[in-house]
Amino acid sequence: MNEQGLSSLKGKKGLIVGIANQHSIAWGCAKVLHAAGADIAVTYLNQKAEPYVRPLAETIHAPIIAPLDMSDDSQLNDLFGVITQQWGTLDFVIHAIAFAPLADLHGRVTDSSRDGFLKAMDISCHSFIRVAHMAEPLMAKQGGSLLTLSYYGAEKVVEHYGIMGLCKAALESSVKYLAAELGDKKIRVNALSPGPIATRAASGIEAFEHLISHAIEKAPEHSAINIEQVGHFARFLVSDESQLVTGGTYFIDAGLNIMAA
Ligand code: NAD
Repeated sequence: MNEQGLSSLKGKKGLIVGIANQHSIAWGCAKVLHAAGADIAVTYLNQKAEPYVRPLAETIHAPIIAPLDMSDDSQLNDLFGVITQQWGTLDFVIHAIAFAPLADLHGRVTDSSRDGFLKAMDISCHSFIRVAHMAEPLMAKQGGSLLTLSYYGAEKVVEHYGIMGLCKAALESSVKYLAAELGDKKIRVNALSPGPIATRAASGIEAFEHLISHAIEKAPEHSAINIEQVGHFARFLVSDESQLVTGGTYFIDAGLNIMAA
């Protein structure tokens, strides 16, 4: 326990996928989990992203910093090879990535292309399943926690969220099926669903500033969400304090989801 009465994550080892820069939700999680004592493996998308991600990873003394483009299976295999060799076990994974080609994201779902839809589903949903598959043997003995990031557009039609809403719906369903399949190994699977936060991925969604101002106006707490607040919820979900919590999607949105539009 630390001075706030929260159990420490000391000795826990986790992988965080999805840091693009200091505004990323994944970075909010990484900072909080590092402060709680966890060792964190960090990935960056490609060479262009590395100069933004590596300095952040170094500030949290990440023992593993590796490239990971989820459209390249060999990179995922290499990353898990390094984790297996260096750690041999894994306690948690935070999967905070999403992608849709802009033409498909900005158009109507009705007009979405097959290729755009498949790419969006692959990177935004099936990538979580692939990560779970790779993590399972490393969590099989001691259990673990797999966490992904969803959004309210999975449940209700949010203007301009388009095909990403379909991806998040599939992702939330994946959380349930994975939780059911991995529960006997004490591997818990959950999603966090934050209200709108200004990040690079969010900047691809049209009229995103309106989503933020609407959220502040409508939410019971009239507050914007920040990445550290998401990190604190993630800390709980990867810690032993959340034992028996699995298969769920949890809003962290100042209560916005309970309001009629
Ligand atoms: P971000 O741009 O900081 O992070 C998105 C990440 O996805 C980036 O690090 C990017 O490199 C990664 N990514 C994209 N394609 C990839 C690929 N092929 N392989 C590996 N990584 C890839 O934005 P963010 O808002 O922090 O997004 C993180 C997660 O949170 C996403 O799943 C997003 O849908 C979700 N989310 C965001 C909000 C919001 O308002 N920002 C709200 C709810 C949920």
